[in-house]
Amino acid sequence: AGGYQSPLLEGLNPQQREAVEYRGPALLIIAGAGSGKTSVLTRRIASLLEAREAWPSQILAITFTNKAAAEMRDRVKAILGQGADGMWISTFHSSCVRILRREAENAGLSASFSIYDSADTKVTLKRIIKSLDADTLGFTPGNASAKISKLKNELADVDSYSRNANMSDPQEVMFVEIFRQYTQRLRAANALDFDDLIGETVYLFRAFPRVAALYRRRFRHILVDEYQDTNHAQYSLVRELTRPVEPELADEMEATGVHVRNLRDATGGIPGASLTVVGDSDQSIYAFRGADTRNITEFERDFPGTRVILLEQNYRSTQNILSAANAVIGHNFDRTDKKLWSAGGDGEKIVGFTAYSGHDEAQFVADEIEVLHSAGMAYRDMAVFYRTNAQTRALEEILVRSAVPYRVVGGTKFYERAEIKDALAYLIAVANPNDELALRRILNTPKRGIGPATETGLASFADANQISFRQAMRDSASLGLGPKVTGAILTLATLLDEAALSIDPANPAGQANVSELLTFLLDGSGLLTLLRNSRDPQDEARAENIEELVAQTKDFNKENPDSGLVDFLTQVSLVAAADDLDDASGTVSLMTLHTAKGLEYEAVFLTGVEEGLLPHQMSAHEPGGPAEERRLFYVGITRARQRLYLSLAMTRAQFGDINVAMPSRYLQEIPVGLIDWKQSPGMANSRGGTQPRALNARRDGFGGGFAGRGEPRALPPAPKPKTEWTNRVSEVRDNGDLTLAAGDRIRHVDFGDGRVNQVTGDGTKRIAHVQFDTAGARKLLIKVAPIEKI
Ligand code: ATP
Ligand code: MG
Repeated sequence: AGGYQSPLLEGLNPQQREAVEYRGPALLIIAGAGSGKTSVLTRRIASLLEAREAWPSQILAITFTNKAAAEMRDRVKAILGQGADGMWISTFHSSCVRILRREAENAGLSASFSIYDSADTKVTLKRIIKSLDADTLGFTPGNASAKISKLKNELADVDSYSRNANMSDPQEVMFVEIFRQYTQRLRAANALDFDDLIGETVYLFRAFPRVAALYRRRFRHILVDEYQDTNHAQYSLVRELTRPVEPELADEMEATGVHVRNLRDATGGIPGASLTVVGDSDQSIYAFRGADTRNITEFERDFPGTRVILLEQNYRSTQNILSAANAVIGHNFDRTDKKLWSAGGDGEKIVGFTAYSGHDEAQFVADEIEVLHSAGMAYRDMAVFYRTNAQTRALEEILVRSAVPYRVVGGTKFYERAEIKDALAYLIAVANPNDELALRRILNTPKRGIGPATETGLASFADANQISFRQAMRDSASLGLGPKVTGAILTLATLLDEAALSIDPANPAGQANVSELLTFLLDGSGLLTLLRNSRDPQDEARAENIEELVAQTKDFNKENPDSGLVDFLTQVSLVAAADDLDDASGTVSLMTLHTAKGLEYEAVFLTGVEEGLLPHQMSAHEPGGPAEERRLFYVGITRARQRLYLSLAMTRAQFGDINVAMPSRYLQEIPVGLIDWKQSPGMANSRGGTQPRALNARRDGFGGGFAGRGEPRALPPAPKPKTEWTNRVSEVRDNGDLTLAAGDRIRHVDFGDGRVNQVTGDGTKRIAHVQFDTAGARKLLIKVAPIEKI
């Protein structure tokens, strides 16, 4: 007993402590949400450093987002009381970019390679599909990019794929051609797409054992968070990095002056790095991107001698929230049951709410946010989750109207705005002169009279002469275009050449930093001036965005005085949705369930808990789809610390249509006693006032009582549209047989009496246009509206 105990073990439970202190080749920490996996990983790094078992430079920690990486770095710093320079804490993608830029030559790239985002990939594929007439065989940029991405995540390239392809199938032949051209175009443009970043690093290590040995020697401790969402390529990367260095290679390294002596074991080689991974198979939500939970389930087989630690105490949520989460996820098969428990007490019940429409649902969320806020909860401690981005419209509208400060996390990202992509394309064209995509983007932006025919002409000219697009621009005088067009092309080419010169280290005057370069390009091209002088009010906002970008480059210069253009562009390329978060902003955060992974909030509003949204209708066709959707629901529930709200809408406007929605099958998996169902404002008298109770007592298979009126019964298995479940999920009615015509008088629970002016639509989508005596004109979906004929 007694002895020195590091403060970094303080407050940890025995399992957590073991996870921090264990030393060995491989450690697997599997545990449910909120059990401290990420915290333990952070403390483990601090512990290695504090005990001087590792230099910061020997640590590689992989997080799911850049933000998570920054947080982890800050925490380590806070624990140790000092920075840990040289430590790599970053996402898979950022780590790989770093490696590839350093090793570009071996990877067959130039160090300033461009990184294509999914929009860039789609533009490239669109051009290929068009040139091959591949759309006649059903190819679109969307489906082609999804297939290519899937293959790359499995480390397949066009050659390995075509070896096994069925070449008597014309569609297969065409796909191979698309894949081949896509690969060639990216090569020619000195560009990599997101999936390449991982795959190319793996290829690099496999093709160049000496390069691999340098990184194996360097990283002695590799730690990976959210391991359940790694795909095959990422798994392979981890494997490559943790292999031992053979004695002969170690000899060779030592002979060339690489310091390895103290790392060598009895065989003379360098043993593989120690690997720690943490994960939760129940939170695997990226199977559609190739994530494979076998990476967890087969970890012990892949890494012999693995120590497994389970964490069961949850420090995040109340017991009610946890019990709901446990119950829901317990419906998935093929999983090891882990029972999370909390010492934090039962807490409040979960609040359930069935709204009449998406708008009503949004209103409920806004109202509750205000209730929580007046009770002292800060806006930034609340979050609203949804399955699809389309759901934000109604939410935003109501939040704006209710003056609730909010932010959409990872919505239309700043860097995805057209004007920002334009400005960035100028920078990219300077950094990477081979990037045809960037050049073609700015060729006629701002408008300088260069039409699409000239653009394709330049591209063919480049192809025919085996020169780059950029060179074709310089040589455009020989194309026989009109003098005005030729002049415009040459002016742009010169602007780019001058810009390149201004940052060329070989040029004594080549000292321009990123913001000076951007300003030079904006001035030279007139991009910003044109937007500023435009009479289109939208252009004013666009100009402001570009000014914001200029401000960002200034900040970048200040914060990274030794970094240049390529570093800036890399940083921009790798921003992920969750990086958009700003905890200090004092706003409610709106985000998709996928983005919410790893985060936590005092209060969580999980909206749209309906069939078709959660599970999403697309998942029905995927094997394992509904199970993955259930995990998504589980992830959402377990983000909440104190308060959880589950809401749904009986009707939802989508793509101009009004859809009738059913409560999600997952709702009935939550024990009845955990949810307190509130009545829908559109359906009952929660806003006060008198209403015809008869409406609520309908017994036509859908009507029925509310929670609170007698003991609700459990729900039968969905999706059978049966009777009883509506007891719990507030009230869903079915007026399917109600025949209304112009001139009829009706009574609505909330709006009172009114007259039908018109009935449009048919079947389940019949809509009554009603002039209410006091509530104005309304359109009601007859099937579900709380109305009766009078
Ligand atoms: P997820 O599966 O959602 O990623 P996780 O397992 O990574 O969750 P953490 O985010 O590390 O869990 O921890 C959840 C919360 O519990 C955090 O607020 C963390 O600070 C807190 N926590 C973790 N361990 C302890 C502990 N021993 N004592 C008190 N609080 C703790
Ligand atoms: Mg975590």
